[in-house]
Order: sequence, then structure tokens, then C-alpha cells
Amino acid sequence: MRTIVFILGACLGSLINLISIRYANGENFVWGRSHCRNCGTPLGVVDLIPIISFMMLKGKCRHCGKRISRRYLLIELCGGLLSCGMYLKKASAIEYLFVFTLFLIALIDFDSLEIPYFTMLILFFVSVALAIERNLNPIEIIGGVVIISLPMSLISFINNGFGWGDVIVVAISGIGLGYRNSIVAFIVALLFGSLQSLMIIIKGKLSLKSVMPFGTALFVGYSLALIYGQQIIHWYLQLVN
Ligand SMILES: [Zn+2]
Repeated sequence: MRTIVFILGACLGSLINLISIRYANGENFVWGRSHCRNCGTPLGVVDLIPIISFMMLKGKCRHCGKRISRRYLLIELCGGLLSCGMYLKKASAIEYLFVFTLFLIALIDFDSLEIPYFTMLILFFVSVALAIERNLNPIEIIGGVVIISLPMSLISFINNGFGWGDVIVVAISGIGLGYRNSIVAFIVALLFGSLQSLMIIIKGKLSLKSVMPFGTALFVGYSLALIYGQQIIHWYLQLVN
């Protein structure tokens, strides 16, 4: 069963990667066959099996021999591992959808530095479904929407600290997470985001003023909070007492 769950996650990762790359290049991401980014040859089934194709082709295009970015392998592996992790935590189908929608938003934000409306719309429906499934009361839901997005909006007004896309994603995610888990999610996201910026600054690729895609950090924070939220709160309370 775990193998099937892993393969499913890897396929989803592969799909998300494809959508993000096509979106960044302004291509139609719903229809159209995949092709090599270098020589343009349409790819067959042999080239498109997640992880296995990459290994078998030794990371090179079968037709022109051009190296395929390791990113494909990395994202497919991430998808597979993420899927396994959620399976072990007995995540529901809606929780799967929630996490993978955030994964898609993170990648598109990373590639294009924007969060398109169609992803927000998907996230909205998934988040509402999640609130219903988790039986959240109205206070939890309204609290979840405003508790992080309001302070973020203020910061955005004052110094453009966050992109408006990030603010909207946080507000929408709050519907399904509720205010308690939203707080946990945002703290984890901030920690991860700082770590991420620090690493990029150390590598010398980013000055303190350049734009940072925060979507990746939100994905990590909100996914962890959804799956491990209760444990994180419990662990924190033990730490303070
Ligand atoms: Zn090629």
C-alpha cells in the first residue's frame, strides 16, 4: 500500500511541476503534450514515469541528450514522501488536496513570483470542505481567516513586507485550519522563511531587499500545522510549563 501511496504522490508532484513550469512560460497547462524543453520532441510514456524515467535516462533527454534539471526528480520525490507522510498520519482525501494545492501554489510562486487566481479558487473550495470535514465552529473559522491575514495586511500596507497573494492564501487557508492551527502554521512558516532567506543570502544570490517568494514557506508551515498542529501545540505547552 505504501508503494502505491508513494507513486500516487510522485505522480501528483510531477503534475504540479508541469503546471508550474507551463504557467511560468505562459503555455497552456491543461492541454498539450509534454515535450523536451531543449529539442522540442514530444515525450512518450517512457519519458514520463515519475522518478523511474529520470533514473533510467540518467537525467538526460532520450532524443538530444541534454541534461534534464534535477528539479523534476526532487519535486517528484517530495510529492511521494509527502504523500507517504500523510498516509502514515491517516490524512483524509480533503487534507491531501489541501496540502497538494499549497504545494502547487508554492511552486508557482517560486517560479513566477505570483500566485494566480485559479489556485486561490481551488484552495478556497478545498479549505471550505476541510472546515466542514473538521466540523469547525464559526468562531474558529472567522478567527482563522483574520488572525494572521489582518496583521499581514497591515505590514503590507506599511512597507510591502508581504505580497498580497500571500495575504489572501493565508486568509483562505485559515477557513480550513481554524485560528489555533493558523497561528502554529504561520510561526512555522516564518521560521522556515527566515531559514530560507538566510541560506540564499549566504549563497550571495539575494540582498536583504530583494523579493522572496513566501509561498514555499507558507506551504511548509500550513502543511505541517494541518498534519501535526495538535502535537506542535501540545509540545509547546509542555515546553512552557
Ligand atoms: Zn531533447
